[in-house]
Amino acid sequence: MITNGVEMLQKARAEHYAVPAFNVNNLEWAKAIILACEKMQSPVIMQVTGGAAKYMGNFKVAHDLIADMYEALGATVPVSIHLDHGTYAEVDEALDADFTSIMFDGSSLPLEENVAKTSEVAKKVHIHNKQLEGEVGTIGGEEDGVIADGELASLEDTLKVAQAGVDSLAVGIGNIHGPYPDNWKGLNLAHLKSISDMLYDKLGYDLPLVLHGGSGIPDDQVQAAIKLGISKVNVNTEGQLAFHKAIRNFVQADKDLEGKNYDPRRFLETGTEAIQAMCEDRITVFGSNGKA
Ligand SMILES: [Zn+2]
Repeated sequence: MITNGVEMLQKARAEHYAVPAFNVNNLEWAKAIILACEKMQSPVIMQVTGGAAKYMGNFKVAHDLIADMYEALGATVPVSIHLDHGTYAEVDEALDADFTSIMFDGSSLPLEENVAKTSEVAKKVHIHNKQLEGEVGTIGGEEDGVIADGELASLEDTLKVAQAGVDSLAVGIGNIHGPYPDNWKGLNLAHLKSISDMLYDKLGYDLPLVLHGGSGIPDDQVQAAIKLGISKVNVNTEGQLAFHKAIRNFVQADKDLEGKNYDPRRFLETGTEAIQAMCEDRITVFGSNGKA
């Protein structure tokens, strides 16, 4: 079933596992992700950045590719079609294309403006019965050409964005986008616990928290973060690296020169299988297998 993901995230939060949020880049990604989640019986968030939507054509192409692939494969696990790091303008485009879940990323704006815009977007998103993820504090690294330094959001700022009507919240806890540098200090789990405790104290319920830049964080740290309230883990770079490595090995072993392996359906097959294997591995680490 294609859902807005609200219940999916609340269930994950209550039962201490995380829903995998895999970025979709093209047809091979859509297929590999759905096959992995169906096999593992995991709920899944399939997300698309503005850049990826532009690459595929537009948000409608991206949405329909996911929805039609889901139907074609006879999948049954809950799936949410999510806008990743949406700008103010992209929120409308994704809603028009029937995305079921939206991230509005106002983290680069001054706090008051982030809160005001997030709460405006929340009204729009909820009229359509869709899910909204907000972001507080910038998550470091590079995403679609936007480079930011990682920072820990203060508890005051976190509460303000949490109260702007979001259903889930991405928090900066030392995580960054893209490959992690050798001298990375690790996730700040103590800060995550403070955020989690403070939000429960002020809101009276557990708000699902989101970990961006999930690719490359040691598994034990991801699992510790999930215990502390992370209910959605974003995975993008890991899929790109798995795909690239498989295709590179295929070409370096001259397999592309055999028979009709120049046919893209054969040429890309090892890459697609590598993405599927990566997804299955992440699902096991996040504990979402069997939770569909
Ligand atoms: Zn992100």
